[in-house]
Amino acid sequence: VCGMSFFQKILSVLFPDRCVGCETLGALVCAECAHTLPPASSPERDFITSVFAYRDPRIRILVRMLKYKNTRHAADVFAPALAGVLTEFLGEEGMLLGGGDVILVPVPLSRKRKKTRGYNQAELLARATLALMPGVRIRIDTNLLEKTVDTKQQADITKRSERLQNLGDCFRVVSGRTSSGETVLLLDDVTTTGATIMAARKALRAAGFHKVYAITVAH
Ligand SMILES: [Zn+2]
Repeated sequence: VCGMSFFQKILSVLFPDRCVGCETLGALVCAECAHTLPPASSPERDFITSVFAYRDPRIRILVRMLKYKNTRHAADVFAPALAGVLTEFLGEEGMLLGGGDVILVPVPLSRKRKKTRGYNQAELLARATLALMPGVRIRIDTNLLEKTVDTKQQADITKRSERLQNLGDCFRVVSGRTSSGETVLLLDDVTTTGATIMAARKALRAAGFHKVYAITVAH
């Protein structure tokens, strides 16, 4: 609550959060429903780890709120689970105690879309997650990767082949940025076919970033 503006405080009093599962007042997801959110099945790519099952209507609602309804604090709902996955990942890679540099890269939006939306939801997720992990040597980097093409909203494209095509070469590494052997962890809200992550990874690898993994909220 302390991070809220005066206007947000008034809004939160007028329109308090209700649980997306059972409509209980007080939070976007109540403690009881939080325990029943189903885990994601394994994504098609082994370098992607997803947390929740996107088929669950509550997850869909939360993601929609985060992306399209300006409900920025929906990122806080996902942060604990993301922090858990991140901790596990760092442990597996032997990086928890400083084995190498890790950069957390929220998958960027095009400049146009970010301007329209006012924020990048993946960036909100990254910040909310790292806020729960004090002392971990990871930095968020929003100036490494950029989205060059304003592709159609993936949700508007129904055909899988079109989705894949839509993303072909839409990311690039910011000019002048080179790898010094860091591990890059991409963070995004949802992966379906993995096409967005694949395109981002392709751009990173072309620029010499060879260790690229991804975490998404839902699959
Ligand atoms: Zn509930």
